[in-house]
Amino acid sequence: MAPGKTAPRLLQDLLTYDARYEERAGRNLLTSPPPQHDAKGPAVAAVPFRNCRHGLFTKIEQSQLPAVGAEPDRDTTYKVAAYCTKCRWHVDVVVGRRNEAAQNEACGKANPGYPLHHFLYEGEDNASSTHGLGAQLRPRTYTFRCSAPACPVDVRISMKPPRFSDHDIETLTNQAQLRRRWEAAKLLAGDRADANMARRVDSLDYLNTYLSDSLKPTKGKARIPLLNKKFLKAFGKDCDAVLIGLGFTSDTEEDNDGTVTQVWYLPKPEGPKSALDSTLRNVIEDARYELNTLILNMPESEREGCRHTPLYPTPSRGDIERILACADSDAKVKGRETRNTEEDHPYYASLGAVGDFDDALILFAFSRQGTVDIENKAYYFECLQDLATGRESEVLGTEVAMLASQGFVSKRDTERAYQYFSIDPVHASVISDEHIIGQFKARLADISPLQADEARRQLRVLGDVRNSDSIRAEASGAIETYEQAMAWFDLDRGQPDDFVQTMFLVKTQDNPACQETAQKALSIIAETRESDRLRRFLKFGSMTEPEMDLGDAYAAFQVQDRSAELDLAVLRSGLLDQEGPRMQQAFNLIEQDQIQRFGDKSHEPSRPEPRRNNYPLETWPVGLRNIGNTCYLNSVLQFLFTIKPLRELILNCEEHLQDPSPEALKDKKVGRMAITAERVVTAQKFVRELRAFYNRMITAPTDTVQPAIDLASLALCRTDNPGEAPSSANVDVAESAGLGTIDGAAISGPMLPPSDDANRTAPADPTTPADSVMNDDGGPQSDDSPKIMEGNNDDVPPAPTRDPPPIPPRPETKPAMATKTKIGRIEESALQQDAAEVMSNIFDLISCAMHGEGILREGEQDDAIKKLFYSDVTTVLETAEGTQKNQELRGNFMVTTGRRDRSLYAILDEDFGKSDIEEERGTRYDYIERAAAIQIINVKRIQYEKRQQQPVYDHSHISLDKTLYMDRYLSKTPTLDEAQLLELRQAQWSKQRELRDLDARRTKLQTTGIDGMNLPDCLEATSEFIDDLLAENIEQQEQQQAAQDSLPTPPPELADTLHDKAKHLAKDLEGMDSIMTTLEAEIESVFRDCQDVPYRLHAVFTHRGDVKGGHYWIYIYDFQNNCWRWYNDDSITPIVESEVLDPETGKRPKVSTGVVYIRADLVEELTEAVCRRPEPVEEEAHKDVEMQEADDDDDQMPDLHWGDVQVIEGVEKE
Ligand SMILES: [Zn+2]
Ligand SMILES: [Zn+2]
Repeated sequence: MAPGKTAPRLLQDLLTYDARYEERAGRNLLTSPPPQHDAKGPAVAAVPFRNCRHGLFTKIEQSQLPAVGAEPDRDTTYKVAAYCTKCRWHVDVVVGRRNEAAQNEACGKANPGYPLHHFLYEGEDNASSTHGLGAQLRPRTYTFRCSAPACPVDVRISMKPPRFSDHDIETLTNQAQLRRRWEAAKLLAGDRADANMARRVDSLDYLNTYLSDSLKPTKGKARIPLLNKKFLKAFGKDCDAVLIGLGFTSDTEEDNDGTVTQVWYLPKPEGPKSALDSTLRNVIEDARYELNTLILNMPESEREGCRHTPLYPTPSRGDIERILACADSDAKVKGRETRNTEEDHPYYASLGAVGDFDDALILFAFSRQGTVDIENKAYYFECLQDLATGRESEVLGTEVAMLASQGFVSKRDTERAYQYFSIDPVHASVISDEHIIGQFKARLADISPLQADEARRQLRVLGDVRNSDSIRAEASGAIETYEQAMAWFDLDRGQPDDFVQTMFLVKTQDNPACQETAQKALSIIAETRESDRLRRFLKFGSMTEPEMDLGDAYAAFQVQDRSAELDLAVLRSGLLDQEGPRMQQAFNLIEQDQIQRFGDKSHEPSRPEPRRNNYPLETWPVGLRNIGNTCYLNSVLQFLFTIKPLRELILNCEEHLQDPSPEALKDKKVGRMAITAERVVTAQKFVRELRAFYNRMITAPTDTVQPAIDLASLALCRTDNPGEAPSSANVDVAESAGLGTIDGAAISGPMLPPSDDANRTAPADPTTPADSVMNDDGGPQSDDSPKIMEGNNDDVPPAPTRDPPPIPPRPETKPAMATKTKIGRIEESALQQDAAEVMSNIFDLISCAMHGEGILREGEQDDAIKKLFYSDVTTVLETAEGTQKNQELRGNFMVTTGRRDRSLYAILDEDFGKSDIEEERGTRYDYIERAAAIQIINVKRIQYEKRQQQPVYDHSHISLDKTLYMDRYLSKTPTLDEAQLLELRQAQWSKQRELRDLDARRTKLQTTGIDGMNLPDCLEATSEFIDDLLAENIEQQEQQQAAQDSLPTPPPELADTLHDKAKHLAKDLEGMDSIMTTLEAEIESVFRDCQDVPYRLHAVFTHRGDVKGGHYWIYIYDFQNNCWRWYNDDSITPIVESEVLDPETGKRPKVSTGVVYIRADLVEELTEAVCRRPEPVEEEAHKDVEMQEADDDDDQMPDLHWGDVQVIEGVEKE
């Protein structure tokens, strides 16, 4: 729809509208939308300069006005008949009311929503009646209707040209013509003719008199004989048309004497009628007003003796304002005078407003205009914006800001958006939405995700401006299909829900602006997969939303006493009234808790788990459902389950439990720490939970089970010893994560392993970057201080939330730490090695819970854990003071990749190999005195980048051999004694030293103070610079300019030297990588023939993500069935070996975070991947609808008589 205008604006336009120049102006000031203001374009005059600024006066006879002082009433049609004394045009303004029941509230002062009428142009009466030449001069009537929904008012504005055309006036007043008439009169009347020629004013004056007489007919004045002296000299034959036009008629009269006289009869208008009718009387009245004006326009000297009695009409403006209900003086800004001579800024006209509106009326006009002319909403917003600035109005400014926040966009922004998509904004109206979407998609194909969000923002602008749902939909996501959604998350089709969740978090954290898009993509994936987990995540699962714990679950059902046994059936019936997955989740938690504590009384699963695979239950490991982002815990639990002796130990734990009496604990040391009774009790609680859980893993009649919350919490339980916990001086555990306690035990993050590795894992000193700790610091732990945990307390990782998410909490959820470095270290500790740490903690708990089978070095308890997993490692220190050997037990080896793709051998060789100890001016190397049957090698993936002051994720690939020969790391093997092995080692070390030197050199060459430039590049650049400088100096000297301003001249040979050096170094750098690879191969080959102690690859802990987190899963080899399985939470699928071992490409390749090797001769004995004795499903369960359906396949199918069914080409026919 076109824009409208408020009543004052309509009046202002009416006062300057001049039909005579309309064609030249190219628009109708009254009815056409005003041109949009373009600050850059040429100025467009609001009113064409020739236009008459009308001085309107009311023709009272033709008007119908409200009584003086009275408000217009709603039943009357009002009319102001006005006449311009300047251009002699006649203007009728008629305000009528439609008779519609719904429209019963006229605008006006009393109507707060609609203080003013806002008129929309409806059309022109008889628009087609006259065309062509002179069309501008015909009478025209424009109709307008108020746009307010409840307002019945409409307005008709008639513009009528003067009764007397310029030609008429010329005819009446032209001196030459008057002279000719006088000559003719003398000829015709002879002496009876007037002695004087008519003056210019006379014809007008006489005509005025005739017309006046015609309105008040008196006897004898109805006719004018042609030979009337005055008539004869003033009007000639050439005036007939004028007279006839005014209603005069001429005839011949026969006198008594038979003479025929020509006579003019005056017009005979009807008596006064309704002001609304158009009659001959009006014509005559109008003519008189004009004659009056024409006469007054004559110089006074010429008007002498004129019989004309001047009319004193009143100005119309006030009358029109009254009937248009715009004479609201309150609405005018002080100091601004209503005027129609000065021009308002075009923005006012655009809003249908006038310059003297106050802010409230400006807003009203804006809102009306935006409502009726949605297409140009952006432009009106821009008007409002600029007026707010121009008027320095706080009210408007606030409003503009508010509207902007609601998605209002200005025309400028709109144009920018069009231009963004290479569309000329002037074509906007003819461009289709589809075209715009097409442009968007084309753009999307070759821009980055960040730019894509900008593209979407621009598209949304266009969607809003064009009010196009299809564009808005496209902008909201541009993701419609499952494939698009997965692609948006950079995921391959089959990747599991956890990846989706992880990528959702990664994406939205990288760029919060894409939240909306991410949600849409996630929702598409959730629906396509019919994944309740993703749906739940979408609904509740923002990182800030705490996962529901058991306490929440009981609270949700308003159960006060958690320890009491509940009737689950009753609880479930309550569930029916309660909507939402959160209640279902709460119920599931309670149900699980109750079954664990009181047993399953129902004898039927409440919701039969839908099968997730097709393997017979007893042949396939059970999947572990994710209980809130504990995928790393699931990986650890799965791995530990496959270690047969450990599993059996747990299942029979009652036989091995530690007596928690003080006497019994007197000599117990685990992780070199004395153990308290509380610790033992907590540990035993964990072991019992683990036993219950293992039992369910074995017997569950489903193919997945869910770890209990308590099990997960205990697995992460750091300590229950009040004497040791508070020593964490710098990290307030309770405050840092608000975990609270479980049965009095503080809940915290995974514990660092109680060994030397603890120091290696966590950067102990802010000045020591984490990635430099390998072998270089920490040193051997020769002291037997039981306080080793205390020593690490600075580095205790911040406690994660109870159910650690795959992506650790963002920094803002953490307590404010003193320094950035501290935050970096804390964050790093929290992020890395979740699986490794939770495993160490579990080992520790099991050792604490079980009584020992002997005492190892330093009082350490010997037990199944030590036997299976702990190697006795010797570190040989060679310093000036001599050679020193330190021995320690290690439950795992922590290695780094060196930030490049390497084999596990290369990594271990470096770890065990000879290296310098800086502080002690010596060297160290390690070997294994006694190797555990199970070797766990953890890979540190997150390292602290010293230069960037932030953790970086190491995505390097570690190539794994199916068989790892441990010979080279042992003190002796069946075929090689210590001396022989040392000899081989020494050969390796010399090559390793070469390698290290090369590496250091390479690092030096690669690192300069200049970003993105290695040393050769820098030298080359310097060389070029010197060259330029020399050239410049020579030039300057040639021009005999003062050389003193320039830089000192470097020796000319310097540039060449630097250039040569740069070339040389670049070549060095180039060659270095290949030399290093060769060296590594040589290092490896030293032990090529040492294959007496093979270990077999059993498990690979795998992670996909980055420093922000990611998803864990584990690959486990089944030595009984000779196959790999991929344990990804609830899903366990077979996988080919290459998938396990081969590197992935792409931005976030999966990486191994831990590998487990098992002594080859013990694999059968120590591992058993499948251990299942699923309980038979009870008969009652068949009542369940879902079970019934499942039964159809098995039981009822055979009853079908296949012979009865005709089968044609595989299509069943009834
Ligand atoms: Zn005028
Ligand atoms: Zn209205």
